[in-house]
Amino acid sequence: MGTIRQSLTAGQGRNTATETNMTYVVTENCIKCKYMDCVEVCPVDCFYEGGNFLVINPDECIDCGVCEPECPAAAIFPDSEPKAADWLETNRKYATEWPNITRKGEVAPDADEWKDKPGKAKLLDPNPAKR
Ligand code: SF4
Ligand code: SF4
Repeated sequence: MGTIRQSLTAGQGRNTATETNMTYVVTENCIKCKYMDCVEVCPVDCFYEGGNFLVINPDECIDCGVCEPECPAAAIFPDSEPKAADWLETNRKYATEWPNITRKGEVAPDADEWKDKPGKAKLLDPNPAKR
């Protein structure tokens, strides 16, 4: 709890009047992994679920950073990092098309096999999660 509170304080400190719209971004490593640990800790419930990938809504994320260390696939980065910047528009686009997710669901049985595999971008399923 102390860690969360510290991170929240740090994140809020970054969202100053001159530094708006900072966000965290889900990147390629999440594809076909989708462990969903991240959604359980987000204080503003800004994750959205596709068939094999999650995205963060950049307009809802408060840049707290709590989700980043929770991701077993190390897929979440602040948009200040180049690899996250490449995925920012993907997160923005699908956050308007996919359903919100706030609770961890069933993890795909082959998630561990796909973890850390390069070149997964072409495998991104553009469809919303089936529920
Ligand atoms: S914890 Fe990481 S791999 Fe799992 S759904 Fe969240 S971003 Fe994707
Ligand atoms: S940094 Fe992560 S936990 Fe924090 S608001 Fe954004 S998506 Fe949610």
